[in-house]
Amino acid sequence: MPKVFVALGANLTDPKAQLDSACRALAQLAMPGTFACSPYYRSVPMGDVPQPDYINGVASFSTQLAPIALLDALQHIEQEQGRQRLVRWGPRTLDLDLLLYGNEQINTPRLTVPHYGMKTRSFVLVPLSDLAPQLILPCGTPLAALLTPALRAELTPL
Ligand code: ATP
Ligand code: MG
Ligand code: MG
Repeated sequence: MPKVFVALGANLTDPKAQLDSACRALAQLAMPGTFACSPYYRSVPMGDVPQPDYINGVASFSTQLAPIALLDALQHIEQEQGRQRLVRWGPRTLDLDLLLYGNEQINTPRLTVPHYGMKTRSFVLVPLSDLAPQLILPCGTPLAALLTPALRAELTPL
């Protein structure tokens, strides 16, 4: 059964509570005893839209859900928590991005895995490394090779 990693981000309506709530919902998708969540971090938003800082974390678990069924479940949780898609990289109550689905590489219109931004985003790499410091990405790159001191310095532990 594949182990999956999901990035969580929020910057509206009590972001920490949004992540706590999302973790409870994600745990319902997990095989018993497999759910874990990283510590949370504060990050400066990407892009040019003025908006509050983000709270970010990464969750991991094993699941019976196939990739698209898992994406459907993630988007359902986003909707349940009031996600609106207004502008790209705009403020949101919750973003759930599927980072990794086992060792699979998936390229479909709805789903790209590994997530296209994960290798360069500090708010993904740092909490991912908290959960799985020895992780090797499907492309063969060790996670540790991507985690520079400059990237670590971008984040504030909550
Ligand atoms: P970014 O993808 O740069 O982090 P975002 O998370 O704000 O931006 P969304 O609006 O959440 O983008 O998602 C846009 C679309 O991305 C979704 O409709 C979904 O079909 C697609 N998508 C492709 N690959 C993934 C993935 N690995 N995880 C989540 N969504 C994905
Ligand atoms: Mg995202
Ligand atoms: Mg997203």
